[in-house]
Amino acid sequence: RMARRRKPDWLKQRPPSGQRFTEIKETLRDRELHTVCEEANCPNLGECWSGRNGPGTATFMLMGDRCSRGCNFCDVETGGMEALDPEEPSNVADAVAEIGLDYVVLTSVDRDDLPDQGAGHFARTIEAIKDRDPGILVEVLIPDFRGDPALVDRIVDAGPDVIAHNVETVERLQWPVRDRRAGYEQSLSVLERAGDTADVYTKTSLMLGLGEYDHELYRTLSDCREAGVDVVTLGQYLQPSHSHLDVYEYVHPDAFETWRRVAEEELGFLYCASGPMVRSSYRAGELFVDAVLR
Ligand code: SF4
Ligand code: SF4
Repeated sequence: RMARRRKPDWLKQRPPSGQRFTEIKETLRDRELHTVCEEANCPNLGECWSGRNGPGTATFMLMGDRCSRGCNFCDVETGGMEALDPEEPSNVADAVAEIGLDYVVLTSVDRDDLPDQGAGHFARTIEAIKDRDPGILVEVLIPDFRGDPALVDRIVDAGPDVIAHNVETVERLQWPVRDRRAGYEQSLSVLERAGDTADVYTKTSLMLGLGEYDHELYRTLSDCREAGVDVVTLGQYLQPSHSHLDVYEYVHPDAFETWRRVAEEELGFLYCASGPMVRSSYRAGELFVDAVLR
């Protein structure tokens, strides 16, 4: 299908700065921890880490920087998986305490190479953070665990506040956007299981600009609501390099705003963060506290 246009002005990035930024960076470097914020060069870093109007948010990347899968929108390297660092759960918990974060997002690469696909390590990290301070809000963005309900339950039982899993795009575009082992129904089943089991909020994210039609997007949002998903975020797909999928279109900010209203007012999502630069964890702390706890 047809092609990329020039990047519009609303996608220009502002570099982060300030003392808080420097402090967090140093703590992460000392403990050899990785954040998606830094590694993906996220344009929202300044806004998220500072948490100007509420809890600041940072997204930790667990279990290494190499993934067992190869999605066509994602810049993480595929294959060459490394052993897990057993110290990582406590290191992350220490860093969270040291930085003084009130809201933490944990995510990971996919680990199809491990017997439990990394669910245990993920759960131990949640537990380590909550053991130190149960008041810290923990959001996890989890893999699909190939739809294994027992592995989803392992995460739920560790006691996170929000469980996110990304559907990424509409049903028709799952392939070529995602790795072939991922799938629409499988992802919906993960979300349904996560939301079913306990007092936890569920969340999903979609990238726009991949060539989806409005009726397909509407259908996807409805399917997510039917699976009990509470929160959705919508952002622009940006091509990480020329070997990744082309951007089909740059969706106008007004269209994002329209979708936000549809999601919140018509479909009943608790909230929808929607805009060209929005990512799954965009100002997650502030928005969660506004929508849920106030
Ligand atoms: Fe980090 Fe997510 Fe915010 Fe980007 S949107 S800076 S990855 S917390
Ligand atoms: Fe990237 Fe996640 Fe796909 Fe791995 S599973 S390639 S980390 S999007």
